[in-house]
Amino acid sequence: MRCIFCKAPSSGSSSREHIIPESLGNKSHVLPRGWVCDRCNNYLARKVEDPFLNSFYGRHARFEMGIPNKENRVPPITGLHAQSKSAVKVWTEESGLHIGPTRKEDGDRLFRSLLTQKSGTLYLPISDLPPPDYVTARFIGKVAMEIMAHRCLDVEGWNQEIVDKPQLDELRNYVRLGRPGFVWPVHIRRIYPNPLSIALRRTQARLSIALSRAVRVQSTDGTGP
Ligand SMILES: [Zn+2]
Repeated sequence: MRCIFCKAPSSGSSSREHIIPESLGNKSHVLPRGWVCDRCNNYLARKVEDPFLNSFYGRHARFEMGIPNKENRVPPITGLHAQSKSAVKVWTEESGLHIGPTRKEDGDRLFRSLLTQKSGTLYLPISDLPPPDYVTARFIGKVAMEIMAHRCLDVEGWNQEIVDKPQLDELRNYVRLGRPGFVWPVHIRRIYPNPLSIALRRTQARLSIALSRAVRVQSTDGTGP
C-alpha cells in the first residue's frame, strides 16, 4: 500500500487518519491504517488542521457548536463587557455560559460592575462562515482527498488508481506541500443557522445566573472584590 499524499510505501504505518479532525467532533469518519502514512498524518495535523482549528473561525465555530476537543474541553472565546470596559473570557459548561476576567487586573472592575449594575451588555464576536482563504482552502483540500479515498474503501485496486492518477497531483501537492498565497477556489455556504445566536436567545435568562456564579467563584478564590 502507498500513501495517498506522498505516494511512499505505507503498509508499516500505524496511525489512522481522521478525515475531519477529532477536535471537530469526528469519531467515525476515519481512514484505515496506511492510507495516509505516519509522516503525512503528523504533518497534516500540524500544518493543515491546526491552523484551521486555531483560526478565528475554527475557535469560534468550536465554541459556538459546543464541540469539545480531545481533552473534552470546549475552547473558550474572548468577549467584551461594555459597562466595565474589560475583555472577558467566555466559556461554556453544562449549566450555561460563564464569564470571567481575561486579566487579573481587570477582575475588580468587572466584578464591581456586575455586582452594582442590574443589567449589562456582553459583546461576543460571531464567526459567521469560514473565510475563503489559504488556510480554509488547504484544509478543505485535505478533507476532499480523504473523502474521495474513503468512498473507495471497497473498490478493488483503489490504492493504485488514486495514488497514480496524475489528475489528482495538483490538489495532492497543494495539500501536502502547500502553496502560500494561492487560494484554491472553495465553495462555502451555511446549511444550518448559527448555533450561538440560537443558544444565546435560549439562555439569555440563564446568563444572569451564570454571571453571579462567576462572581462567587472569584470571591471564594480570594481574588474578587
Ligand atoms: Zn505520506
